[in-house]
Amino acid sequence: VDVLLDRLREIVGPLHVLVDADVRASYEVDWTGRFAGSTPAVVRPGTTSELAAVVVACAESRRAIVPQGGNTGLVGGSVPLHGEIVVSTRRLDRLGDVDVVAGEVTAGAGVTLDRLQDHARRAGLAFGVDLAARQSATVGGMVATNAGGLNFVRHGGMRQQLVGIEAVMADGSVVSRLERPPKDNTGYDLAQLLCGSEGTLGVVTAARVQLVPSPESTVTALAAVPDLTAAVTAINRLRDRGVPVQAAEGFFDEGMALVCGHLGLTRPLAPSPAYLLVEWEGVADAFALTGLDDAVLAVDDHRRAELWRFREAHTESVNTLGIPHKLDVAVTPSKLDELVRQVRATVAGMAPDAVLVLFGHVADGNVHVNVVGPDPDDDRLDDAIVAVVLAMGGSISAEHGIGTAKRAWLGLARSSAELNVYRRVKRALDPDGILNPHVLL
Ligand SMILES: Cc1cc2nc3c(=O)[nH]c(=O)nc-3n(C[C@H](O)[C@H](O)[C@H](O)COP(=O)(O)OP(=O)(O)OC[C@H]3O[C@@H](n4cnc5c(N)ncnc54)[C@H](O)[C@@H]3O)c2cc1C
Repeated sequence: VDVLLDRLREIVGPLHVLVDADVRASYEVDWTGRFAGSTPAVVRPGTTSELAAVVVACAESRRAIVPQGGNTGLVGGSVPLHGEIVVSTRRLDRLGDVDVVAGEVTAGAGVTLDRLQDHARRAGLAFGVDLAARQSATVGGMVATNAGGLNFVRHGGMRQQLVGIEAVMADGSVVSRLERPPKDNTGYDLAQLLCGSEGTLGVVTAARVQLVPSPESTVTALAAVPDLTAAVTAINRLRDRGVPVQAAEGFFDEGMALVCGHLGLTRPLAPSPAYLLVEWEGVADAFALTGLDDAVLAVDDHRRAELWRFREAHTESVNTLGIPHKLDVAVTPSKLDELVRQVRATVAGMAPDAVLVLFGHVADGNVHVNVVGPDPDDDRLDDAIVAVVLAMGGSISAEHGIGTAKRAWLGLARSSAELNVYRRVKRALDPDGILNPHVLL
């Protein structure tokens, strides 16, 4: 290791090879605290060519790498669980000029989502993906996980925003196709191949992304609903009338009580079994279409942010209860209430003392399942919930990826023919297993 560390110091400079235990610590444990490992060093290259040289040096020493951006991924994919070298992309934080005609911009892998959003806003545009971890999540991590987020209902996820990519492959070669014309059918689309590959096929160093028009006015409504079917019906009613719905989040009263308790907030509505937070571009009048009567509406940014707190603070509030078991599942929206019923019954049967908090992006049929109580290493309840989702024809990972946390279940969600192709792709691009060898497969 010492020889490798000396080489890494030559490549990136001694200041950017972090070996001090205290400094390494935050890179070794993930956002949930559930996944923790250790690394001989965190390397912070400042350019693509430095990153390429780091990959070559690690490959020659047969040392595996874990690429890490904001470390907000929730599935144990960004931390060194097997003594890997952590390659942090946070210094790759250059933002190019916005091409306002094409509505595109190039961002370094280490650019945080909130910086990208600000940059787009200053050019009179917006970025189509938003998520609560915006201050830490990076462009590279969001590409690597194909992040979905709060505005998926309107703009899709990272895959839909991606125009081009620059990445370092496992042999140290750099592929770069950032700008390109809207029509270009020449060969395999490497940007799309790397999107969602969770750092197993290449390290993203920059991405060119499409921007979207900035909404002129936005309305946020928080409404009491009896169940998620009522929420989805209200969203559909708005969309059927041509109202551009930008976000549609659902959560339940246990989550509302938890958030209000944690942040010391007053309930905005009388207690209800469930809540819908819906946001659209346009005027407040459109709310008349929803058929919901108990609701609060906000149009100014400050008040809208206050309503969002009730939904966005769910993740941090759950973390105050202990180390959560987290699943990120999806079913077709008409089956959401059945999913919720079956998950509640499963938890009540197997872990009656556990705290279950459900919330998610309802328009996408996506529910985040959080259970606090069972030992963090005991996956029996997770296994049972995964079985429920699969029996309903759902997805066991709607947006966070597989990481290390869900690897055991991948074989339940993909056929052996598909898995064989995955393995052949991995072997072809990373024959020595240098890039995130314990993630996904
Ligand atoms: C409060 C909160 C809310 C969240 N909400 C959402 C949400 O709504 N939607 C959603 O999709 N996710 C959500 N997430 C999860 C997380 O923010 C996303 O997965 C995000 O894309 C991760 O970005 P990151 O930079 O933190 O990546 P990391 O956590 O650092 O890494 C994630 C994975 O990508 C790999 N990786 C990171 N950078 C690169 C790179 N440059 N090249 C190749 N591989 C790389 C890592 O090895 C790892 O496997 C949320 C997380 C939190 C904590």
